[in-house]
Amino acid sequence: KAFCEEIDAGNGAINAYVLPTPEIALEQARAADARIAKGEARTLEGLPLGIKDLFCTKGVRTTACSKILDDFKPTYESTVTQNLWDAGAVMLGKLNNDEFAMGSSNETSAFGPVVNPWRRTGSDAKLVPGGSSGGSSAAVAADLCLAATATDTGGSIRQPAALTGTVGLKPTYGRCSRWGIVAFASSLDQAGPITKSVEDAALMLQVMAGQDPKDSTSVDAPVPDYRASLRNGIKGLRVGVPKEYRVAGMSAEIDKLWEQGITWLEDAGASVHEISLPHTKYALPAYYIVAPAEASSNLARYDGVRYGMRQTGSDLIDTYEQTRAAGFGREVKRRVLIGTYVLSAGYYDAYYLKAQKVRTLIKRDFDEAWDKVDVVLTPTTPSPAFAFGEKSGDPLAMYLEDIFTVTVNMAGLPGLSVPAGLSTEGPPLGLQLIGKPFDEETLLRTGQVIE
Ligand code: GLN
Repeated sequence: KAFCEEIDAGNGAINAYVLPTPEIALEQARAADARIAKGEARTLEGLPLGIKDLFCTKGVRTTACSKILDDFKPTYESTVTQNLWDAGAVMLGKLNNDEFAMGSSNETSAFGPVVNPWRRTGSDAKLVPGGSSGGSSAAVAADLCLAATATDTGGSIRQPAALTGTVGLKPTYGRCSRWGIVAFASSLDQAGPITKSVEDAALMLQVMAGQDPKDSTSVDAPVPDYRASLRNGIKGLRVGVPKEYRVAGMSAEIDKLWEQGITWLEDAGASVHEISLPHTKYALPAYYIVAPAEASSNLARYDGVRYGMRQTGSDLIDTYEQTRAAGFGREVKRRVLIGTYVLSAGYYDAYYLKAQKVRTLIKRDFDEAWDKVDVVLTPTTPSPAFAFGEKSGDPLAMYLEDIFTVTVNMAGLPGLSVPAGLSTEGPPLGLQLIGKPFDEETLLRTGQVIE
C-alpha cells in the first residue's frame, strides 16, 4: 500500500510508470500475507517490483512504449515475470522505456521521457535517467519500487543504472529466458534486474534465471546460490583493465573514477593487470549494424494485422505502410531502415556479414583475456546523466553512450554496473565489471567491494 501511494503521489513528476497496477499489487500482496502467516513464504514473498513494459504480462497492457502496440494485452506471461510471481513477488506496474528498447535516454518512448530523480548541483534542469530501461532505473532510484526488471541489448540495464546511482546486472546471454519479452535484437537481448544493492541483484537473478524449454537459447547451466557467493571476498582475484577502453577524449573525472575503482579492488586483495582487447574500437559500429539488422527482422511482425494498432489503407500493402508510418517513432524507423539496408542483397556481405565476423573477433579477445584475468573493470558510461534534448537530435552522439557497454552483448558476457560515487556536477557515476560466461557470482562479489 505504501508503494502504491508513493506511485500515486510521485509518478507524475518522474513518469517512470506507464501503467501502475495497484489492484494486482494488492491482490498479490494479500496472497503473500496469507502465505507468510502460514509459514510458507517463498524467496521474494511480498516484495513489490516494477516491470519494464517490454515484458509481456498476461491480460495487462504491454506496449514496449510504442504506439504500434496500442492496447495490446498479451494472452501469456513472460517466463522471467512468471518466475518472479512464482517466488511471491508483487507487481506494482509497468515501467517506461525507450520505444522497443532503442535508445539511451528514454526520450524515444511514446509515453514521453522519464525524469532522473537526480539533478546537477544548483540546477533545476531535468536530466535523463538513461535508457532504454529509464523507467526501471528512475523507479528504483526514487523508491517507487524495491527493484525492477529490465533488459539489455547494448547497455540498457547498465547505463541507466549508472546514471541513477543504482545497480544493474546484465546476465550472460542464455542465463534468463527471453520468452515473452518483446524482441529487439534476439542474439543480444537479455533480461536482468535493476536494484538498490548488489545483494538485491543477487536475489533477483536467483529467481529470474534458469533454463526454459520455451527459449532454445536459454542454457541448461546450474543456477548457483548467488547470495552465498557474496560472502567470499575477492582476495587473490585477478582484475583486468583493458587499455583500449582509455578512449580518446575520455574525461578526467571518468579516468579518476576508474583509478579509484582499481584502488578499491587492490585494497580488498585483488591483483590488477593491464590487458588488451584489440578489437574494442570496432564494437560500436558492428553493434549498430547487427542490432538494427535483427530489429528490422523482428519488427516485421507489426503489420497492423496481428497486433495492436491498425490504420486501414486502400489495400493490404497500403495498410502495412500506413500502420507502420503512424505506429513507429523516428528512432525505430531509423533502425528499420538501417537494418533493411545492411541485410539487403549486395550489402549483406559488406556490412552484416562483416559485422558478424567482427563480433567473433570481439568474443575471441575476451576468450584470450580469461587466461590472464577473472574479471574486467571499466567505466560504465563516458559521462554522467545529461539534460533532455542534449543528444536526442544527434543519433551518433546518443550511440556513443554505449561505447563501454556493447562489447559485453556482442560477446554474450555478463556485465554489472555498480554505483561508484558522484560526478563533479552532482549526479552519480558507475563502474562496470565484465565476467566470464555464466560467472555472475564473481561479478556480484566484486561489485560488493565497490558499492
Ligand atoms: N542504447 C542501445 C541502443 O539503442 C542499447 C539499447 C538496449 O540495450 N536495449 O541500441
